Amino acid sequence: MCAMTSLTLSNGAVDFIDEDRLGALLNAPPPAPAEVREIIAKSLAKEPLSAAETSALLRCEETELVEEMFDAARTLKRNVYGNRIVLFAPLYIGNYCINDCLYCAFRRSNTQAVRRTLTPDEIVEQVTALEDSGHKRLILVFGEHPKYDAEFMARTVQQVYSVTSGHGEIRRVNINAAPLDHDGYKIMHEAGIGTYQVFQETYHHETYSAIHPASTRKGDYLWRLDALNRAMEAGCDDIGIGALFGVYDWRFEVLGLVTHALELQRKYGVGPHTISFPRLQPAHGISLNDFPLVNDEDFVRLVAVLRLAVPYTGMILTARENAEIRRKVMEFGVSQIDAGSRIEIGGYTESGDAQCMDREQFALGDIRSLDSVMRELLQDGYVPSFCTACYRLGRTGEHFMEFAIPGFIKRFCTPNALTTLMEYLVDYASPETRKAGDALVEAELNKIPDSTEKSDLIDRLEQVRSTDKRDLYL
Ligand code: SAM
Ligand code: SF4
Repeated sequence: MCAMTSLTLSNGAVDFIDEDRLGALLNAPPPAPAEVREIIAKSLAKEPLSAAETSALLRCEETELVEEMFDAARTLKRNVYGNRIVLFAPLYIGNYCINDCLYCAFRRSNTQAVRRTLTPDEIVEQVTALEDSGHKRLILVFGEHPKYDAEFMARTVQQVYSVTSGHGEIRRVNINAAPLDHDGYKIMHEAGIGTYQVFQETYHHETYSAIHPASTRKGDYLWRLDALNRAMEAGCDDIGIGALFGVYDWRFEVLGLVTHALELQRKYGVGPHTISFPRLQPAHGISLNDFPLVNDEDFVRLVAVLRLAVPYTGMILTARENAEIRRKVMEFGVSQIDAGSRIEIGGYTESGDAQCMDREQFALGDIRSLDSVMRELLQDGYVPSFCTACYRLGRTGEHFMEFAIPGFIKRFCTPNALTTLMEYLVDYASPETRKAGDALVEAELNKIPDSTEKSDLIDRLEQVRSTDKRDLYL
């Protein structure tokens, strides 16, 4: 049982963040070059790194070795994920909140926030707008409030799945919301969600208490740390962890994330599907001077080190970051980004290009349209993907880990990415993006040796181009 809430924790729940140990790892002397190279080699062999090994990468300051880390992160990303980048959009459903997180504009003490929950009709409007721009994957975001219990969130998920517009439909709905109890996660699982994300924000206990008042639900560190263990026990094996970078020492948070991932893997035989690393952004009524923050150089480094530490975990980079930083860190290990995002409630139909600080959680750094982000990705040689096949065919959790091997990418991921890209090009792209996309599809096809798989793929691409057939996946 959890002391503050008297809610039931997971079986054998413990606070597995040993702060003294992580602190000691970070304060050890810089590693010898041979040790760093050995750790990089282990990572390139796609073995997850321990917290001690990750700390050696974090302590290393020799320019040449740091460059080797960046090169390795690039290589690993290519080997595990190919050149695909999965695209999604956030949909903020409601910003009522009982918590008082010091960094967030939705905190209950922010009396100037415009509070709102989308009505069912407004959800249809927002989802239609997202589908009309080409999105297939959404993450629904909620404040923590009794209004937003599991039943409410499950109904919202089902409603989102039911909205169609032309060829548009949402094929995967992920969730970023408060921790639930076992029954809550069961309800969410039955609603057919993709990933359930809960970010610990900071793994450092004292900082956690300082920014999440003890009188609030979120003030209970262990209830939150244990959230995804309960999800696993309730059958939600597709989960996402994250830390809010900029509220404490970024190196410690990297070790916290790695420890969390390893703990889930140890206990349930499957690690997190995704890791997120949101960086603190300006928000209504918040002074960034009160936080240590993370500069751009360290941010790039932390993405590369995380990539090396957790080879098989998807890494999500959001539009909190500006276009330039997004482009830069993408090559070091990011597998998913959002695009065309609006985070004010109702923002996909109501706010045009403006950001309204009294209506949103924080300021976004990249508010380019999905089409212009797609075009840049295509011109940079990435394959933007809206693929949802694994989750819909039950290839998640432990099962998915078995498949995340090189041959799998060639056989399934690349062809599926190309057919979803073709759907975007035919149904939504501007002429310029279409041109860049057609050239990329051609180039990708040229890389595939002649085979039945290749002719089947060409056939599926042609069906999308010239008929109403959609959603053709393996
Ligand atoms: N209310 C739920 C919760 O706190 O878990 C749902 C998610 S909250 C709306 C989404 C995430 O946004 C938080 O977990 C936090 O990491 C991040 N966030 C909050 N304020 C932020 C800010 N000022 N800058 C960047 N990210 C922020
Ligand atoms: Fe509420 Fe989440 Fe914002 Fe905290 S981060 S105030 S829980 S919406």
